[in-house]
Amino acid sequence: MRLSRYILPTLKEDPSDAVVSSHRLMIRAGLIRKESAGMYAYLPLGFRVLRKIIDIVRDEMDRAGAHEFLMPELTNADLWKESGRWFSYGPEMFRIKDRNGMEYSLGPTHEEAFTGLVRGLISSYRDLPVTVYQINTKFRDEMRPRYGVIRSKEFIMKDAYSFDMDEKGLDESYQAMRKAYRKIFERCGLETIPVEADTGAMGGSDSEEFMVASEVGEEVLLLCGSCGYRANQEKAEFGRKPFAGPAPAEKLSEVDTPDVKTIDDLVKFFGTTPDRFLKSIIYLADGKPAMAVVTGDREINENKLKRSLGCSSLELAPDSVVEEVTGAPVGFAGPVPGPSIPVVFDLSVKEVRNGYTGANKKDVHYSGVNPGRDFEIAKEADIASAVEMDPCPRCGKPMNVRKGIEVGHIFKLGYKYSRPMNVTVLDENGASVTPIMGCYGIGINRTVAAIVEQNGDGRGIVWPKSVAPFSVHLVGISKTAEESAAVDRIYGMMSDAGIDVLYDDRNASPGFKFADADLIGIPVRVTVGKGYFQDGDIEIKLRKEKDPVKVREEALIGKLRELV
Ligand code: ATP
Ligand code: MG
Repeated sequence: MRLSRYILPTLKEDPSDAVVSSHRLMIRAGLIRKESAGMYAYLPLGFRVLRKIIDIVRDEMDRAGAHEFLMPELTNADLWKESGRWFSYGPEMFRIKDRNGMEYSLGPTHEEAFTGLVRGLISSYRDLPVTVYQINTKFRDEMRPRYGVIRSKEFIMKDAYSFDMDEKGLDESYQAMRKAYRKIFERCGLETIPVEADTGAMGGSDSEEFMVASEVGEEVLLLCGSCGYRANQEKAEFGRKPFAGPAPAEKLSEVDTPDVKTIDDLVKFFGTTPDRFLKSIIYLADGKPAMAVVTGDREINENKLKRSLGCSSLELAPDSVVEEVTGAPVGFAGPVPGPSIPVVFDLSVKEVRNGYTGANKKDVHYSGVNPGRDFEIAKEADIASAVEMDPCPRCGKPMNVRKGIEVGHIFKLGYKYSRPMNVTVLDENGASVTPIMGCYGIGINRTVAAIVEQNGDGRGIVWPKSVAPFSVHLVGISKTAEESAAVDRIYGMMSDAGIDVLYDDRNASPGFKFADADLIGIPVRVTVGKGYFQDGDIEIKLRKEKDPVKVREEALIGKLRELV
């Protein structure tokens, strides 16, 4: 490809709205252009990378025995009503009507669509196991589209769904995908950290997310360097420290605390530490009030709380509800005596001695609070978030926190869709069986961005070979028509040899061409310039290395074959 005829609008300056490096570099290197918030067009160079990743994903899916489909992106509301998600999906789903008033969703995911289709394609145990997939656009009305293609309103996903006769079969299908995912990211040159992930209110089943460690990641990971426990903070457990030493029980006393409300203020006021406070927060779980109590040094983990309450929606209760259930303004809730609503205590609460908590009265707290004596722990669960240096739940060694970008997610769905959508097959004995499902997603665009986050330097992108838009970047530096013709001839030679080459034949300065070459990051750069015209030496430089090597024209193709 001749660059003089190509559409490659590289930019010297960072776009003003790009805050993460992948977004900046993808715009500057001419891979994408913004259409509007959360919507991006891929230019030819970017589309090449996207296609390479799609090819790798498809290859590994096919190897794993999955079957490729192409589903409509417009999905009928009736399908979503069968699973119930038409009513529960929330504002992320784009909903539209046709001219006759029929309702559709622009598919944010395709569990319903595939379950509905596969239901009509399978009838017997002989048809199972089966894993189906597609590589197709998804639409999500994200609350905050950001970071370029990392979180956009429209993106390409590879989504796969497995159908098995039983749990053992599901586990085999799941493991096959687990293996394929590792292979896919490895082939993309992307280092991922697979972590245990939250399975939602369903609970019980396996779920793994593939994370790319990055400061700009929105996911928080807890990693144990000793035993290898790795989990998303949404799910991560941690070892609890038992109460150390005896403490003579103090008397429960009311203390006037006018205008002392935050844990920080209270810590100062009482001259103590946050772990002795019982922080009590009122939520609405499926619309009904419930209280969660954790120690003041911890944050409530709403995923864990949701699971322990078994609810599908959870939100902070509005002030009016707090006032109604506690009889006090916000800031004075506590478990002594508890309001008559469900209360969940975190596992650390029982370790507190002579603690402090709100007295369910305006401007009053209790001191000398002792669990068991002053209140009963009727329901106890792990509802706090693990943080840096918390003990690993497996080996007890301190864990570390890292941020990550989620690029893929595999999940055992169980019967969540197959049951309400009435998928059945006949088993060996002619009895009707509901297949058990798994689902497996990879964000293709987000993967491109994650690769750029992980493989860039101050000058631009450094593509791994497998996903680079071209294999070789030929830079011609010629002053005369004869010299240009000589570089053209070498370009012809490389093309004839089947080398995927981008040829910078533009009439521009060497500095300009080299800067563009570094910015777009093709792994191998070949320079034909003064050295060639004077001494017959062609320069080969790898993007990730500093110094070039020289080769003679006769050896060029052989050397490039070795490199690409
Ligand atoms: P997130 O928590 O980041 O919103 P998700 O849990 O909603 O992700 P899934 O529904 O599991 O994501 O989708 C599978 C994959 O699709 C994700 O692992 C991610 O790579 C990609 N993905 C999800 N939402 C977006 C988006 N808005 N833009 C780009 N890629 C996305
Ligand atoms: Mg999401």
